[in-house]
Amino acid sequence: MKPIPEEKLKQLERAAAEARKKSYAPYSHFAVGAALLGENGMVYTGCNIENASYPAGICAERTAIFKAVSEGCRRFRAIAIAGGPEGADCLTLCTPCGICRQVMREFTGPDFPVWFSDGNGGFRMMTLAQLLPESFGPDSL
Ligand SMILES: [Zn+2]
Repeated sequence: MKPIPEEKLKQLERAAAEARKKSYAPYSHFAVGAALLGENGMVYTGCNIENASYPAGICAERTAIFKAVSEGCRRFRAIAIAGGPEGADCLTLCTPCGICRQVMREFTGPDFPVWFSDGNGGFRMMTLAQLLPESFGPDSL
């Protein structure tokens, strides 16, 4: 996989933080934004969208991925995730939940870089293989 230029990563981090401002989280009050870089060079953003019927809500990461897929992009280079208490500027550690890891697995590979806010003012990267080892994916069927 071609390395992503530092400036592009910074752009993704900023886009994730910006998308976080659109979060609809009246129940958890934990606002998350995600920015997904498509192979086509486009950046797809998403935020968490909660629901009074809790399971009907969706995470920021899946919002971004589903937006991209619905617009015809199915291959991705990286994702950045920014999360923290609603209304606060500071970001906390925000790794993707298990469902989002599985959805990433559907459209990416083991080397897919997942950048997430580390709770120390920066972002940290783990590969999808680190976040979802021994995963079940399209090639398992
Ligand atoms: Zn999730």
